[in-house]
Amino acid sequence: MNIEVDREVCEIHAQCVFAAPDVFRLDDDDELVYESAPDERHVAAVRHAVSACPVRAIRLLDDAS
Ligand code: SF4
Repeated sequence: MNIEVDREVCEIHAQCVFAAPDVFRLDDDDELVYESAPDERHVAAVRHAVSACPVRAIRLLDDAS
């Protein structure tokens, strides 16, 4: 699974951090940091993060759905 966050769109709502804390986090400067190729065991959490993001900034690159 590969994911991408559109940083032009992301508004640091941090809903993804709550949904998938093993994949997304905020650094000390409140910038979003994320694992671009998270392990498959995080698929459910990442899908939750995608749907939770209020500005639809997260994309699953290798997922047609
Ligand atoms: S939930 Fe969306 S807008 Fe908020 S930090 Fe995550 S990607 Fe950015």
